[in-house]
Amino acid sequence: MTHLWFENALLPQGWAQRVRIGISGGCIVSVDADIAPLPGDERHSTALPGLCNVHSHGFQRGMAGLSERRGRPDDDFWSWREVMYRFLDRLTPDDIAAITAQAYVEMLESGFTRVGEFHYLHNDIDGRRYADPAETAGAIVAAAQTSGIGLTLLPVFYAHGDFGGAAPAPGQRRFLSTIDDFAPLVEASRSKLPADARQGIAPHSLRAITPDELAAILPLAHDGPIHIHAAEQMREVEACVAWSRARPVEWLLDHAEIDARWCLIHATHLSDAECDRLAASGAVAGLCPVTEANLGDGIFPAERYLGAGGRFGVGTDSNILVDAAAELRAIEYSQRLTHRRRAVLADDREPSVGKRLFTTALQGGAQALGVAGGLQVGASADLVSLDRTHPAMAGADTDTLFDRWVFAARSSVIDCVWRGGRKQVEGGRHVAAGQVSEAYRRTVAGLLS
Ligand SMILES: [Zn+2]
Repeated sequence: MTHLWFENALLPQGWAQRVRIGISGGCIVSVDADIAPLPGDERHSTALPGLCNVHSHGFQRGMAGLSERRGRPDDDFWSWREVMYRFLDRLTPDDIAAITAQAYVEMLESGFTRVGEFHYLHNDIDGRRYADPAETAGAIVAAAQTSGIGLTLLPVFYAHGDFGGAAPAPGQRRFLSTIDDFAPLVEASRSKLPADARQGIAPHSLRAITPDELAAILPLAHDGPIHIHAAEQMREVEACVAWSRARPVEWLLDHAEIDARWCLIHATHLSDAECDRLAASGAVAGLCPVTEANLGDGIFPAERYLGAGGRFGVGTDSNILVDAAAELRAIEYSQRLTHRRRAVLADDREPSVGKRLFTTALQGGAQALGVAGGLQVGASADLVSLDRTHPAMAGADTDTLFDRWVFAARSSVIDCVWRGGRKQVEGGRHVAAGQVSEAYRRTVAGLLS
């Protein structure tokens, strides 16, 4: 049993002072407030619960910055996707493990303590299943163990190139499954998970799966979460309307019993009716605003959605830049630029934009990854401590602390991060950062040579 003591900590009921947290077996076993530290307690200033990163494709970290040059005048998401397909043409499972470990180290250093890996790179370079159908899932598990991050694995079902069961393109051969060979992959993946990992299921998108296939794979989620890409691109919305006369989120709400088990990734392009229905469904919108900005996707209607009581989590998606605070900031800034107002996502009950974004993403993220979040007995001991001597924190109190972190600090404001009770980040740096980044450099240099 170890004890951490904090001058203040954000508990589920709000800020508490002089907080002593007992940890055993990776979980929080006691939380006591207004208590003095005892000899042997490790002392820090401010504790926050770690955030869940609801959406990642770990291998894409290796191509970050490689698609920022103009290829043609109408470059967009679809031309980026061609660059991504070429990048993964050569990736081996060892490459995936090395690149993903780097992404996960960066997630921990930025305050994420669990990742939802939307894992679709299942097949060998020639498109055939590996002898072990969970070969690449094993690479993801290895990256999670190297970094120490919590893992919710979301094996992806991907079978088609567009709406209506269209044939896949050659560049999609490493993603493809059939109904028959997907269940063995899911079960083989499950057998590789460490004890505190979770597994759900991810129908890739309505572009990649037919309604019959969707119905067939959902039972494979068991009690885990269900994630799907939806409405990231207007071309996708238009193609969905041409196929079904409904928009993607509308189609899912009408046909897929969307509820609290679901996380709709992006959900960027919503009509007002879709926005209100999604908010009422209890599902989580998985917002990835840094990637969505990078890819030119569009702006999620966050003001209306939060006003309707909608839940969201944040994800780093393409991992172009891995930073929890940057995701939260980008949600608010996209609304300011749209509405030409400030503090758009605060409300009467919570005037601090940073705190409202953080606490909403904390709850929605935990729901979307199938875990209990927050600093409470029984939850995984996933904590982040902030450096209150950082210049961005000068004069900050608990009322303004989140706004300082989200809007005015760089990631160096994070001091320590514990995951499952183990301190993985100290002084802002992951304990294995040197070794992981060396393997990452070697891997990416080899891939690009
Ligand atoms: Zn994605």
